[in-house]
Amino acid sequence: MKTVNHWIGGKTVEGASGNYGPVTDPATGEVTTQVALASADEVDAAVQVAREAFQTWGQSSLAARTKVLFAYRALLDANRDAIAELITAEHGKVHSDALGEVARGLEIVELACGITTQLKGELSTSVSSRVDVSSIRQPLGVVAGITPFNFPAMVPMWMFPLAVACGNTFILKPSEKDPSAANKLAELASEAGLPDGVLNVVHGDKVAVDALLAHPGIAAVSFVGSTPIARHIHTTASANGKRVQALGGAKNHMLVLPDADLDAAADAAVSAAYGSAGERCMAISAVVAVGSIGDALVEKIRERAEKIKIGPGNDPASEMGPLITAAHRDKVASYVKGAAEQGADVVLDGTGYTVGGFENGHWIGLSLLDNVKTDSDAYRDEIFGPVLCVLRAETYEEGVALINASPFGNGTAIFTRDGGAARRFQLEIEAGMVGVNVPIPVPVGYHSFGGWKDSLFGDHHIYGNDGIHFYTRGKVVTTRWPDPSEAPAGVDLGFPTSR
Ligand code: NAD
Repeated sequence: MKTVNHWIGGKTVEGASGNYGPVTDPATGEVTTQVALASADEVDAAVQVAREAFQTWGQSSLAARTKVLFAYRALLDANRDAIAELITAEHGKVHSDALGEVARGLEIVELACGITTQLKGELSTSVSSRVDVSSIRQPLGVVAGITPFNFPAMVPMWMFPLAVACGNTFILKPSEKDPSAANKLAELASEAGLPDGVLNVVHGDKVAVDALLAHPGIAAVSFVGSTPIARHIHTTASANGKRVQALGGAKNHMLVLPDADLDAAADAAVSAAYGSAGERCMAISAVVAVGSIGDALVEKIRERAEKIKIGPGNDPASEMGPLITAAHRDKVASYVKGAAEQGADVVLDGTGYTVGGFENGHWIGLSLLDNVKTDSDAYRDEIFGPVLCVLRAETYEEGVALINASPFGNGTAIFTRDGGAARRFQLEIEAGMVGVNVPIPVPVGYHSFGGWKDSLFGDHHIYGNDGIHFYTRGKVVTTRWPDPSEAPAGVDLGFPTSR
């Protein structure tokens, strides 16, 4: 069996705690790998290495940093397939989807390559007599990133490229369910010339995470994962004096107005609800049909969903892979099984589905629930599986009120041909990312990603300008160089004002 160890100080470091977690191929159900789970002492050792590396990296020139980042970009580009294969083997998503994840992560590396322009700072000359003021941004020190299973390459890349471009050193604690992609990303960074200790990968579970949150040597924590853990990370890291951004779970709605192109809306709903088997924080999990279009829209979604080909992620014919674990599959199935009792019409029931030749895989088919009640479990919880709920609203206002009542506020979308309604929606809706005829509005790398309400704890969204602000702190320098011919100003106990 393969073992995934830590990557610290530019080399593989074997786990010393004696604890390992199982990594399963979701398509076969077989445990293929064991991953080392770090103790608090191992976390501490990694922090010391990262602190040491910060002494040099934090002082390095922008030219030195961008040289590495450009080389890294080229290496990642050349290794897209290899990274995608690691993702599919441990996460289960289909290869094309894994390639998409790598491409979206690469966007942030490309943004980091341009850090020279992003970190330019500001200068005001002559704010007062012979006084100039400049604002600069400096790195924080050692920062940590804790990431979820569903994007084992992209979400780490939302974090460390910008963090190290800004001069920080980084400790990544990936999901223990699919840890291999993280090591590959770190190895390629070393190959690109990133100095030892700048990017470290420490594998582990709650023990390692809590050690990072408590460690006085960690200046900031970026987290992406479920809402309860995001809340724990935000509370604990903040109490320990750290800067923290903690992105949580979601229930993303798609509002379909009566004037929408129903075929386009149905295509979008199926792609966004069932892609990656629904294990996306930006998946559409609730469609709100406005007016009388509900029955027609449900029928169009059903027709399309029935044609989706489910199978192993490494089979090019597969459009949807298995779920991450058997336990998660069973939990997802329980929402479908309980739906009718809680008032929904079960249009498609994907429970009990299996793939011939892969009977031990974590399979589930596509489920479609209509007339779902807002107080039902299937609507209230983030299911994180291929289950789409459809709700009905009489009017645009009723639909918006329904969406705004959700405790989550990650992404949302409107499908309409009415520009006025779309404009109103983007202003009135309570979510951090809005799509207009775009079902999964994940912002490009140079805009920031983040939700509202229970989908994000902290003040900064991730990547883009917010990412750069998160990984740097501001400093303002006020400078006065007296003219050599000037007599000294003399003592003045008054509060300084501009003159
Ligand atoms: P998770 O919260 O279970 O795990 C995330 C990370 O936290 C992992 O590294 C895990 O090891 C660690 N962790 C788990 N339990 C912990 C505990 N008790 N104490 C300390 N650390 C703990 O999330 P997941 O199941 O890996 O990922 C799926 C979730 O992530 C979904 O809720 C999804 O919506 C969310 N997600 C959100 C975004 C976003 O941008 N908002 C993006 C991707 C995923």
